Amino acid sequence: MSVKKSLAVDVAIVGGGGAGLAAAIEAKRAGASVAMIEKADTLGGAAILSGGGCLVAGSPLQEMQGIHDSPDLAFEDWMIWGQGAADEAWVRYYLDHSLHDLYLWAERLGVTWESVRPHEGNRAQRWHRPKNAGKGLTGALIDTVRTLGADEILASTAVIEILRRDGKVYGLKAVNTHSGERVEISSKSLILASGGFNSNLDMVLAVRPELKGSRILLGGGPGATGDGHALARDLGAQLTHLEHIWFYAHATPDYRDPSGIRGLVFRMASDTIWVNQQGRRFHDESLYGGNSATPALLRQSPRHAWAILDAPLITTMEVADPYYRSGAQIIREKIQALLDQSPYIRKAQSLEELGRKMETDVPTFLATVEHHNKACADGLEREAEFGKLLKDSKKLDLPPYYAIQMFPLARKNFGGIKTDMKCRVLNQGMDPICGLYAAGEVAGMAGGHINGKAGLEGTMLGPSIFSGRVAGAWAAQEAGFGAGFKGDAAALHSQTS
Ligand SMILES: Cc1cc2nc3c(=O)[nH]c(=O)nc-3n(C[C@H](O)[C@H](O)[C@H](O)COP(=O)(O)OP(=O)(O)OC[C@H]3O[C@@H](n4cnc5c(N)ncnc54)[C@H](O)[C@@H]3O)c2cc1C
Repeated sequence: MSVKKSLAVDVAIVGGGGAGLAAAIEAKRAGASVAMIEKADTLGGAAILSGGGCLVAGSPLQEMQGIHDSPDLAFEDWMIWGQGAADEAWVRYYLDHSLHDLYLWAERLGVTWESVRPHEGNRAQRWHRPKNAGKGLTGALIDTVRTLGADEILASTAVIEILRRDGKVYGLKAVNTHSGERVEISSKSLILASGGFNSNLDMVLAVRPELKGSRILLGGGPGATGDGHALARDLGAQLTHLEHIWFYAHATPDYRDPSGIRGLVFRMASDTIWVNQQGRRFHDESLYGGNSATPALLRQSPRHAWAILDAPLITTMEVADPYYRSGAQIIREKIQALLDQSPYIRKAQSLEELGRKMETDVPTFLATVEHHNKACADGLEREAEFGKLLKDSKKLDLPPYYAIQMFPLARKNFGGIKTDMKCRVLNQGMDPICGLYAAGEVAGMAGGHINGKAGLEGTMLGPSIFSGRVAGAWAAQEAGFGAGFKGDAAALHSQTS
Protein backbone atom coordinates (compact mmCIF):
# COMPACT_ATOMS: atom_id res chain seq x y z
CA MET A 1 0.00 0.00 0.00
CA SER A 2 1.37 3.45 -0.82
CA VAL A 3 2.31 5.95 1.88
CA LYS A 4 -0.33 8.70 2.09
CA LYS A 5 1.37 10.93 4.62
CA SER A 6 5.01 11.48 5.45
CA LEU A 7 6.56 13.72 8.05
CA ALA A 8 9.98 14.60 9.38
CA VAL A 9 10.55 15.52 13.05
CA ASP A 10 13.40 15.51 15.53
CA VAL A 11 11.86 13.09 18.03
CA ALA A 12 9.12 10.53 17.36
CA ILE A 13 7.23 9.10 20.34
CA VAL A 14 5.25 5.86 20.12
CA GLY A 15 2.38 6.02 22.61
CA GLY A 16 0.54 8.91 24.23
CA GLY A 17 0.18 7.63 27.82
CA GLY A 18 1.99 8.75 30.97
CA ALA A 19 5.53 8.10 29.71
CA GLY A 20 4.97 9.36 26.16
CA LEU A 21 3.36 12.60 27.32
CA ALA A 22 6.15 13.28 29.83
CA ALA A 23 8.72 12.56 27.10
CA ALA A 24 7.01 15.00 24.74
CA ILE A 25 7.09 17.74 27.37
CA GLU A 26 10.85 17.32 27.90
CA ALA A 27 11.69 17.07 24.21
CA LYS A 28 9.61 20.13 23.36
CA ARG A 29 11.14 22.14 26.21
CA ALA A 30 14.58 21.24 24.90
CA GLY A 31 13.58 22.75 21.56
CA ALA A 32 13.03 19.60 19.49
CA SER A 33 10.12 19.09 17.13
CA VAL A 34 8.01 16.14 18.22
CA ALA A 35 5.52 13.71 16.70
CA MET A 36 3.41 11.61 19.06
CA ILE A 37 1.74 8.56 17.56
CA GLU A 38 -1.09 6.99 19.55
CA LYS A 39 -3.12 4.02 18.37
CA ALA A 40 -6.19 4.80 20.51
CA ASP A 41 -8.59 7.54 19.46
CA THR A 42 -7.61 9.68 22.44
CA LEU A 43 -4.44 10.32 24.42
CA GLY A 44 -3.89 9.06 27.95
CA GLY A 45 -3.30 5.30 27.82
CA ALA A 46 -3.59 3.31 31.04
CA ALA A 47 -2.35 6.40 32.87
CA ILE A 48 -5.61 8.30 32.41
CA LEU A 49 -7.66 5.30 33.60
CA SER A 50 -5.42 4.71 36.58
CA GLY A 51 -5.84 5.59 40.24
CA GLY A 52 -3.09 8.15 39.62
CA GLY A 53 -1.23 7.07 42.75
CA CYS A 54 2.51 7.76 42.72
CA LEU A 55 5.08 6.72 45.29
CA VAL A 56 6.88 9.83 46.49
CA ALA A 57 9.30 9.85 49.43
CA GLY A 58 9.63 12.98 51.57
CA SER A 59 6.81 15.21 50.27
CA PRO A 60 5.31 18.32 51.90
CA LEU A 61 2.00 16.44 52.12
CA GLN A 62 3.64 13.68 54.15
CA GLU A 63 5.28 16.28 56.38
CA MET A 64 1.94 18.04 56.94
CA GLN A 65 0.49 14.74 58.11
CA GLY A 66 3.41 13.96 60.40
CA ILE A 67 4.66 11.10 58.20
CA HIS A 68 8.44 10.78 58.46
CA ASP A 69 9.91 9.49 55.23
CA SER A 70 13.02 9.81 53.11
CA PRO A 71 14.43 8.41 49.85
CA ASP A 72 16.75 6.22 51.96
CA LEU A 73 13.92 4.63 53.93
CA ALA A 74 11.89 4.09 50.76
CA PHE A 75 14.93 2.59 49.05
CA GLU A 76 15.28 -0.03 51.81
CA ASP A 77 11.59 -0.96 51.59
CA TRP A 78 11.72 -1.07 47.79
CA MET A 79 14.75 -3.34 47.62
CA ILE A 80 13.31 -5.76 50.19
CA TRP A 81 9.96 -5.87 48.40
CA GLY A 82 11.62 -6.41 45.00
CA GLN A 83 13.09 -9.69 46.32
CA GLY A 84 16.45 -9.31 44.62
CA ALA A 85 14.98 -8.49 41.21
CA ALA A 86 14.62 -4.67 41.36
CA ASP A 87 17.07 -2.57 39.34
CA GLU A 88 18.96 -0.88 42.17
CA ALA A 89 20.39 2.01 40.13
CA TRP A 90 16.97 2.94 38.75
CA VAL A 91 15.31 2.65 42.17
CA ARG A 92 17.88 5.05 43.62
CA TYR A 93 17.57 7.40 40.64
CA TYR A 94 13.78 7.51 40.89
CA LEU A 95 13.68 7.97 44.66
CA ASP A 96 16.29 10.75 44.61
CA HIS A 97 14.08 12.57 42.09
CA SER A 98 10.52 11.67 43.17
CA LEU A 99 9.99 14.86 45.18
CA HIS A 100 11.47 17.47 42.82
CA ASP A 101 11.04 15.85 39.45
CA LEU A 102 7.66 14.22 39.88
CA TYR A 103 5.69 15.67 42.79
CA LEU A 104 6.74 19.35 42.54
CA TRP A 105 7.12 19.17 38.74
CA ALA A 106 3.54 17.89 38.43
CA GLU A 107 2.31 20.60 40.79
CA ARG A 108 3.81 23.20 38.47
CA LEU A 109 1.77 21.63 35.64
CA GLY A 110 -1.39 22.14 37.69
CA VAL A 111 -1.70 18.86 39.60
CA THR A 112 -2.97 18.93 43.19
CA TRP A 113 -1.74 16.10 45.41
CA GLU A 114 -4.66 15.32 47.66
CA SER A 115 -3.95 12.46 50.00
CA VAL A 116 -1.35 9.90 51.08
CA ARG A 117 -2.28 6.27 51.70
CA PRO A 118 -0.61 3.18 53.11
CA HIS A 119 0.26 0.10 51.07
CA GLU A 120 1.79 -3.26 51.91
CA GLY A 121 5.58 -3.30 52.14
CA ASN A 122 5.94 0.42 52.98
CA ARG A 123 7.02 1.45 56.47
CA ALA A 124 5.74 4.98 55.77
CA GLN A 125 2.59 6.03 53.96
CA ARG A 126 3.85 7.29 50.60
CA TRP A 127 1.23 6.49 47.92
CA HIS A 128 0.25 10.01 46.80
CA ARG A 129 -3.11 10.42 45.14
CA PRO A 130 -3.68 13.40 42.83
CA LYS A 131 -7.00 15.24 42.67
CA ASN A 132 -9.23 13.47 40.15
CA ALA A 133 -6.98 10.38 40.16
CA GLY A 134 -5.28 9.35 36.88
CA LYS A 135 -7.43 11.74 34.92
CA GLY A 136 -6.23 14.69 36.99
CA LEU A 137 -2.55 13.85 36.59
CA THR A 138 -2.61 12.69 32.98
CA GLY A 139 -4.98 15.51 31.99
CA ALA A 140 -2.36 18.01 33.19
CA LEU A 141 0.29 16.29 31.03
CA ILE A 142 -2.01 16.37 27.98
CA ASP A 143 -2.82 20.06 28.52
CA THR A 144 0.90 20.85 28.81
CA VAL A 145 1.76 18.95 25.62
CA ARG A 146 -0.97 20.83 23.77
CA THR A 147 0.19 24.18 25.19
CA LEU A 148 3.78 23.49 24.20
CA GLY A 149 2.42 22.59 20.78
CA ALA A 150 3.62 19.06 19.95
CA ASP A 151 4.14 19.43 16.22
CA GLU A 152 2.13 16.36 15.28
CA ILE A 153 -0.20 14.37 17.47
CA LEU A 154 -1.48 11.47 15.44
CA ALA A 155 -4.24 9.62 17.29
CA SER A 156 -5.93 6.47 15.88
CA THR A 157 -2.55 5.62 14.40
CA ALA A 158 -0.72 2.39 15.23
CA VAL A 159 3.02 2.10 14.73
CA ILE A 160 3.77 -1.13 12.87
CA GLU A 161 7.46 -0.86 12.05
CA ILE A 162 10.57 0.97 13.23
CA LEU A 163 12.97 1.93 10.46
CA ARG A 164 16.71 1.42 10.78
CA ARG A 165 19.58 2.08 8.38
CA ASP A 166 23.28 1.49 8.99
CA GLY A 167 22.55 0.50 12.60
CA LYS A 168 20.64 3.69 13.41
CA VAL A 169 16.90 4.11 13.94
CA TYR A 170 15.59 6.84 11.65
CA GLY A 171 11.82 6.70 11.84
CA LEU A 172 8.72 4.56 11.73
CA LYS A 173 5.80 3.33 9.72
CA ALA A 174 2.27 3.54 11.05
CA VAL A 175 -1.27 2.96 9.91
CA ASN A 176 -4.49 4.82 10.64
CA THR A 177 -6.71 2.39 12.54
CA HIS A 178 -9.90 3.68 10.87
CA SER A 179 -8.98 4.60 7.30
CA GLY A 180 -6.01 2.26 6.83
CA GLU A 181 -4.01 5.25 5.55
CA ARG A 182 -0.25 4.67 5.83
CA VAL A 183 2.00 7.20 7.54
CA GLU A 184 5.78 7.32 7.44
CA ILE A 185 7.71 9.50 9.86
CA SER A 186 11.42 10.13 9.79
CA SER A 187 13.04 11.22 13.04
CA LYS A 188 16.50 11.70 14.52
CA SER A 189 15.57 9.66 17.58
CA LEU A 190 12.57 7.57 18.60
CA ILE A 191 11.04 6.76 21.98
CA LEU A 192 8.98 3.64 22.60
CA ALA A 193 6.36 4.47 25.24
CA SER A 194 3.73 1.97 24.19
CA GLY A 195 2.81 0.54 27.62
CA GLY A 196 2.67 -3.05 28.79
CA PHE A 197 1.28 -6.32 27.45
CA ASN A 198 -1.36 -7.28 30.00
CA SER A 199 -4.16 -6.92 27.46
CA ASN A 200 -2.62 -9.70 25.39
CA LEU A 201 -3.42 -13.09 26.93
CA ASP A 202 -1.09 -15.00 24.60
CA MET A 203 1.86 -12.88 25.74
CA VAL A 204 0.90 -13.25 29.41
CA LEU A 205 0.66 -17.04 29.11
CA ALA A 206 3.86 -17.26 27.04
CA VAL A 207 5.86 -15.85 29.95
CA ARG A 208 3.76 -17.55 32.65
CA PRO A 209 3.06 -20.98 31.11
CA GLU A 210 2.14 -22.49 34.49
CA LEU A 211 -1.09 -20.44 34.35
CA LYS A 212 -2.32 -22.08 31.15
CA GLY A 213 -5.61 -23.83 31.80
CA SER A 214 -6.61 -21.38 34.59
CA ARG A 215 -8.91 -18.48 34.01
CA ILE A 216 -6.81 -15.31 33.95
CA LEU A 217 -8.41 -11.89 33.59
CA LEU A 218 -6.79 -9.03 31.71
CA GLY A 219 -6.64 -5.63 33.37
CA GLY A 220 -3.94 -3.57 31.68
CA GLY A 221 -4.84 -0.49 29.63
CA PRO A 222 -6.76 -1.36 26.44
CA GLY A 223 -3.70 -0.46 24.34
CA ALA A 224 -1.37 -2.66 26.39
CA THR A 225 -1.01 -5.35 23.76
CA GLY A 226 2.78 -5.59 23.68
CA ASP A 227 3.29 -3.89 20.29
CA GLY A 228 6.38 -2.04 21.46
CA HIS A 229 7.92 -5.23 22.84
CA ALA A 230 7.60 -6.90 19.44
CA LEU A 231 8.95 -3.84 17.58
CA ALA A 232 11.96 -3.67 19.90
CA ARG A 233 12.59 -7.40 19.74
CA ASP A 234 12.74 -7.17 15.94
CA LEU A 235 15.60 -4.69 16.35
CA GLY A 236 17.55 -7.01 18.65
CA ALA A 237 16.61 -5.27 21.90
CA GLN A 238 17.03 -7.07 25.17
CA LEU A 239 13.78 -7.87 26.99
CA THR A 240 14.08 -8.80 30.61
CA HIS A 241 12.07 -9.98 33.68
CA LEU A 242 8.92 -10.42 31.55
CA GLU A 243 7.58 -13.12 33.86
CA HIS A 244 7.19 -10.56 36.64
CA ILE A 245 3.59 -9.63 36.12
CA TRP A 246 1.70 -7.90 38.92
CA PHE A 247 -1.54 -9.84 39.38
CA TYR A 248 -4.35 -8.82 41.70
CA ALA A 249 -6.59 -11.35 43.43
CA HIS A 250 -9.59 -9.13 44.13
CA ALA A 251 -10.88 -9.01 40.58
CA THR A 252 -14.00 -10.24 38.86
CA PRO A 253 -14.89 -10.51 35.15
CA ASP A 254 -16.25 -7.31 33.61
CA TYR A 255 -19.81 -8.28 32.73
CA ARG A 256 -19.89 -5.50 30.09
CA ASP A 257 -17.07 -7.14 28.11
CA PRO A 258 -18.62 -9.67 25.71
CA SER A 259 -15.34 -11.60 25.42
CA GLY A 260 -15.35 -12.26 29.18
CA ILE A 261 -11.58 -11.77 29.29
CA ARG A 262 -11.36 -8.32 30.82
CA GLY A 263 -11.64 -7.94 34.56
CA LEU A 264 -12.46 -5.31 37.17
CA VAL A 265 -10.48 -4.81 40.35
CA PHE A 266 -12.82 -4.26 43.27
CA ARG A 267 -12.14 -3.04 46.79
CA MET A 268 -14.14 -3.06 49.97
CA ALA A 269 -13.82 -2.93 53.73
CA SER A 270 -11.32 -5.56 54.84
CA ASP A 271 -13.93 -7.35 56.98
CA THR A 272 -15.19 -9.31 54.01
CA ILE A 273 -14.11 -12.95 53.98
CA TRP A 274 -12.85 -14.90 50.97
CA VAL A 275 -13.59 -18.58 50.55
CA ASN A 276 -12.27 -21.03 48.00
CA GLN A 277 -14.46 -23.34 45.92
CA GLN A 278 -14.40 -25.85 48.79
CA GLY A 279 -15.99 -23.20 51.04
CA ARG A 280 -12.91 -22.57 53.19
CA ARG A 281 -11.01 -19.37 53.99
CA PHE A 282 -7.40 -19.41 52.81
CA HIS A 283 -5.89 -16.00 53.62
CA ASP A 284 -5.88 -12.89 55.83
CA GLU A 285 -8.11 -10.76 53.63
CA SER A 286 -6.78 -7.47 55.02
CA LEU A 287 -3.58 -8.25 53.05
CA TYR A 288 -5.02 -7.88 49.57
CA GLY A 289 -1.90 -6.90 47.60
CA GLY A 290 -0.21 -8.64 44.71
CA ASN A 291 2.56 -9.97 46.95
CA SER A 292 0.26 -11.59 49.51
CA ALA A 293 -3.28 -12.25 48.26
CA THR A 294 -2.31 -13.27 44.73
CA PRO A 295 0.08 -16.10 45.69
CA ALA A 296 -2.59 -17.32 48.15
CA LEU A 297 -5.26 -17.34 45.42
CA LEU A 298 -2.94 -19.05 42.94
CA ARG A 299 -2.42 -21.89 45.46
CA GLN A 300 -6.16 -22.73 45.39
CA SER A 301 -7.54 -25.44 43.19
CA PRO A 302 -9.36 -24.37 41.10
CA ARG A 303 -7.67 -20.94 41.00
CA HIS A 304 -10.64 -18.82 41.93
CA ALA A 305 -12.42 -17.78 45.12
CA TRP A 306 -15.47 -15.92 46.39
CA ALA A 307 -15.63 -12.67 48.36
CA ILE A 308 -18.56 -12.92 50.78
CA LEU A 309 -20.45 -9.80 51.80
CA ASP A 310 -23.71 -8.91 53.48
CA ALA A 311 -25.94 -5.86 52.94
CA PRO A 312 -23.94 -3.29 55.00
CA LEU A 313 -20.59 -4.45 53.60
CA ILE A 314 -21.69 -4.16 49.99
CA THR A 315 -22.17 -0.40 50.49
CA THR A 316 -18.38 -0.06 50.95
CA MET A 317 -17.57 -1.70 47.63
CA GLU A 318 -15.52 0.29 45.09
CA VAL A 319 -14.42 -0.62 41.57
CA ALA A 320 -11.03 0.59 40.32
CA ASP A 321 -12.25 1.77 36.93
CA PRO A 322 -13.22 5.29 35.84
CA TYR A 323 -16.61 3.99 34.60
CA TYR A 324 -17.60 3.50 38.24
CA ARG A 325 -16.68 6.96 39.50
CA SER A 326 -17.18 10.59 38.73
CA GLY A 327 -14.12 12.42 40.04
CA ALA A 328 -13.70 11.12 43.58
CA GLN A 329 -17.40 10.17 43.77
CA ILE A 330 -18.36 6.48 43.53
CA ILE A 331 -21.35 5.95 41.23
CA ARG A 332 -23.39 3.55 43.38
CA GLU A 333 -26.02 2.81 40.71
CA LYS A 334 -23.32 1.44 38.42
CA ILE A 335 -21.94 -0.76 41.20
CA GLN A 336 -25.48 -1.98 41.88
CA ALA A 337 -25.92 -2.75 38.15
CA LEU A 338 -22.70 -4.81 38.29
CA LEU A 339 -23.98 -6.67 41.37
CA ASP A 340 -27.35 -7.32 39.75
CA GLN A 341 -26.21 -8.21 36.26
CA SER A 342 -22.86 -9.98 36.51
CA PRO A 343 -23.16 -13.75 36.08
CA TYR A 344 -20.08 -13.97 38.35
CA ILE A 345 -21.88 -12.45 41.32
CA ARG A 346 -24.43 -14.46 43.33
CA LYS A 347 -27.07 -12.94 45.59
CA ALA A 348 -29.26 -14.72 48.15
CA GLN A 349 -31.47 -14.06 51.15
CA SER A 350 -29.79 -16.74 53.24
CA LEU A 351 -26.21 -18.01 53.53
CA GLU A 352 -27.38 -21.53 52.76
CA GLU A 353 -28.98 -20.40 49.49
CA LEU A 354 -25.78 -18.43 48.70
CA GLY A 355 -23.65 -21.54 49.23
CA ARG A 356 -25.88 -23.51 46.87
CA LYS A 357 -25.63 -20.79 44.21
CA MET A 358 -21.83 -20.84 44.55
CA GLU A 359 -21.95 -24.61 44.05
CA THR A 360 -19.65 -25.00 47.01
CA ASP A 361 -19.80 -27.56 49.79
CA VAL A 362 -22.65 -25.90 51.72
CA PRO A 363 -21.99 -27.33 55.24
CA THR A 364 -18.29 -26.36 55.02
CA PHE A 365 -19.19 -22.89 53.77
CA LEU A 366 -21.75 -22.35 56.55
CA ALA A 367 -19.22 -23.53 59.16
CA THR A 368 -16.63 -21.06 57.76
CA VAL A 369 -19.02 -18.11 58.06
CA GLU A 370 -20.17 -19.28 61.50
CA HIS A 371 -16.54 -19.45 62.64
CA HIS A 372 -15.93 -15.88 61.43
CA ASN A 373 -19.15 -14.62 63.04
CA LYS A 374 -18.27 -16.25 66.36
CA ALA A 375 -14.77 -14.69 66.37
CA CYS A 376 -16.39 -11.26 65.84
CA ALA A 377 -19.07 -11.88 68.49
CA ASP A 378 -16.42 -13.03 70.99
CA GLY A 379 -14.54 -9.76 70.47
CA LEU A 380 -11.27 -11.50 69.56
CA GLU A 381 -8.42 -9.17 68.58
CA ARG A 382 -7.31 -11.56 65.83
CA GLU A 383 -8.92 -14.60 64.31
CA ALA A 384 -6.90 -17.70 65.00
CA GLU A 385 -6.45 -19.26 61.57
CA PHE A 386 -4.74 -16.54 59.51
CA GLY A 387 -4.16 -13.91 62.20
CA LYS A 388 -6.41 -11.27 60.67
CA LEU A 389 -7.03 -8.27 62.96
CA LEU A 390 -10.74 -8.14 63.76
CA LYS A 391 -10.99 -4.64 65.21
CA ASP A 392 -13.12 -3.37 62.31
CA SER A 393 -14.83 -6.65 61.51
CA LYS A 394 -18.44 -7.48 61.98
CA LYS A 395 -20.60 -10.53 61.68
CA LEU A 396 -21.95 -11.40 58.25
CA ASP A 397 -25.59 -11.55 59.24
CA LEU A 398 -27.68 -9.01 57.34
CA PRO A 399 -29.24 -10.16 54.06
CA PRO A 400 -29.09 -9.93 51.14
CA TYR A 401 -25.78 -11.80 50.96
CA TYR A 402 -23.44 -11.57 47.99
CA ALA A 403 -20.64 -13.80 46.67
CA ILE A 404 -18.33 -12.16 44.13
CA GLN A 405 -16.25 -14.62 42.13
CA MET A 406 -12.57 -13.66 42.05
CA PHE A 407 -9.94 -14.63 39.50
CA PRO A 408 -6.29 -13.53 39.16
CA LEU A 409 -6.06 -10.37 37.05
CA ALA A 410 -2.90 -9.33 35.18
CA ARG A 411 -2.57 -5.57 35.76
CA LYS A 412 1.03 -4.34 35.46
CA ASN A 413 4.24 -5.47 33.76
CA PHE A 414 7.32 -5.34 35.96
CA GLY A 415 9.64 -6.47 33.19
CA GLY A 416 10.26 -5.06 29.72
CA ILE A 417 12.84 -3.53 27.43
CA LYS A 418 16.23 -3.13 29.09
CA THR A 419 17.65 0.40 28.97
CA ASP A 420 20.54 2.31 30.43
CA MET A 421 20.16 5.34 32.70
CA LYS A 422 19.47 7.58 29.70
CA CYS A 423 16.63 5.23 28.63
CA ARG A 424 18.64 4.12 25.59
CA VAL A 425 17.48 0.66 24.51
CA LEU A 426 20.18 -1.97 24.99
CA ASN A 427 20.79 -4.94 22.77
CA GLN A 428 21.79 -8.45 23.85
CA GLY A 429 25.40 -7.29 24.21
CA MET A 430 24.28 -4.39 26.48
CA ASP A 431 25.15 -1.80 23.82
CA PRO A 432 22.68 1.00 23.01
CA ILE A 433 20.69 0.65 19.80
CA CYS A 434 21.47 3.94 18.12
CA GLY A 435 18.53 6.37 18.12
CA LEU A 436 16.16 4.15 20.12
CA TYR A 437 14.82 4.92 23.62
CA ALA A 438 12.19 3.24 25.82
CA ALA A 439 10.28 4.51 28.85
CA GLY A 440 7.31 3.55 30.98
CA GLU A 441 5.67 0.16 31.19
CA VAL A 442 7.18 -1.09 27.92
CA ALA A 443 10.47 -0.76 29.82
CA GLY A 444 9.15 -2.45 32.99
CA MET A 445 8.19 1.10 34.16
CA ALA A 446 11.83 2.25 33.98
CA GLY A 447 15.12 0.71 32.96
CA GLY A 448 13.70 -2.77 32.36
CA HIS A 449 12.71 -3.90 35.87
CA ILE A 450 12.60 -1.11 38.43
CA ASN A 451 10.07 -2.93 40.66
CA GLY A 452 11.42 -6.45 40.77
CA LYS A 453 9.05 -9.23 41.80
CA ALA A 454 6.63 -7.02 43.74
CA GLY A 455 5.62 -3.36 43.73
CA LEU A 456 5.16 -1.03 46.70
CA GLU A 457 2.28 0.55 44.70
CA GLY A 458 2.51 3.94 43.03
CA THR A 459 5.73 2.47 41.62
CA MET A 460 4.28 2.07 38.12
CA LEU A 461 2.86 5.42 37.16
CA GLY A 462 5.49 7.45 39.03
CA PRO A 463 8.50 5.73 37.43
CA SER A 464 6.73 5.66 34.03
CA ILE A 465 6.31 9.42 34.03
CA PHE A 466 9.80 9.97 35.43
CA SER A 467 11.48 7.69 32.88
CA GLY A 468 9.41 9.39 30.17
CA ARG A 469 10.97 12.69 31.19
CA VAL A 470 14.46 11.15 31.17
CA ALA A 471 13.92 9.56 27.74
CA GLY A 472 12.46 12.76 26.27
CA ALA A 473 15.42 14.87 27.37
CA TRP A 474 18.08 12.43 26.14
CA ALA A 475 16.30 11.68 22.86
CA ALA A 476 16.15 15.43 22.23
CA GLN A 477 19.84 15.73 23.09
CA GLU A 478 20.69 13.00 20.57
CA ALA A 479 18.67 14.95 18.01
CA GLY A 480 20.78 18.03 18.77
CA PHE A 481 18.63 19.82 21.37
CA GLY A 482 19.30 20.45 25.04
CA ALA A 483 21.79 18.87 27.41
CA GLY A 484 19.91 15.73 28.43
CA PHE A 485 18.12 15.11 31.70
CA LYS A 486 19.35 16.71 34.88
CA GLY A 487 16.16 17.42 36.77
CA ASP A 488 15.54 19.88 39.57
CA ALA A 489 16.84 17.46 42.22
CA ALA A 490 20.26 17.56 40.52
CA ALA A 491 20.15 21.35 40.26
CA LEU A 492 19.35 21.55 43.95
CA HIS A 493 22.22 19.21 44.88
CA SER A 494 24.75 21.20 42.83
CA GLN A 495 23.57 24.49 44.40
CA THR A 496 23.99 23.19 47.93
CA SER A 497 27.24 21.23 47.46
C1 LIG B 1 -7.03 0.62 35.93
C2 LIG B 1 -5.58 0.87 36.23
C3 LIG B 1 -5.24 1.53 37.41
C4 LIG B 1 -3.89 1.80 37.69
N1 LIG B 1 -3.58 2.53 38.80
C5 LIG B 1 -2.29 2.81 39.07
C6 LIG B 1 -1.94 3.61 40.21
O1 LIG B 1 -2.78 4.14 40.94
N2 LIG B 1 -0.61 3.82 40.44
C7 LIG B 1 0.37 3.29 39.65
O2 LIG B 1 1.55 3.47 39.94
N3 LIG B 1 0.06 2.61 38.53
C8 LIG B 1 -1.24 2.37 38.22
N4 LIG B 1 -1.55 1.69 37.08
C9 LIG B 1 -0.47 1.38 36.12
C10 LIG B 1 -0.11 2.63 35.33
O3 LIG B 1 -1.27 3.29 34.89
C11 LIG B 1 0.76 2.27 34.11
O4 LIG B 1 1.83 1.49 34.54
C12 LIG B 1 1.25 3.54 33.40
O5 LIG B 1 0.16 4.24 32.86
C13 LIG B 1 2.23 3.19 32.29
O6 LIG B 1 2.47 4.35 31.51
P1 LIG B 1 2.91 4.20 29.98
O7 LIG B 1 2.91 5.53 29.38
O8 LIG B 1 4.09 3.35 29.92
O9 LIG B 1 1.72 3.32 29.35
P2 LIG B 1 0.26 3.79 29.01
O10 LIG B 1 -0.18 4.86 29.93
O11 LIG B 1 -0.56 2.56 28.93
O12 LIG B 1 0.40 4.42 27.54
C14 LIG B 1 0.84 3.63 26.46
C15 LIG B 1 0.15 4.12 25.21
O13 LIG B 1 0.77 3.54 24.05
C16 LIG B 1 -0.23 3.27 23.09
N5 LIG B 1 0.26 2.28 22.13
C17 LIG B 1 0.45 0.95 22.32
N6 LIG B 1 0.90 0.37 21.18
C18 LIG B 1 0.97 1.36 20.24
C19 LIG B 1 1.33 1.37 18.85
N7 LIG B 1 1.69 0.26 18.20
N8 LIG B 1 1.28 2.55 18.18
C20 LIG B 1 0.89 3.69 18.82
N9 LIG B 1 0.52 3.72 20.13
C21 LIG B 1 0.57 2.57 20.83
C22 LIG B 1 -1.39 2.77 23.94
O14 LIG B 1 -2.61 2.84 23.25
C23 LIG B 1 -1.31 3.71 25.15
O15 LIG B 1 -2.11 4.86 24.98
C24 LIG B 1 -2.88 1.39 36.79
C25 LIG B 1 -3.22 0.71 35.62
C26 LIG B 1 -4.55 0.45 35.33
C27 LIG B 1 -4.90 -0.25 34.04
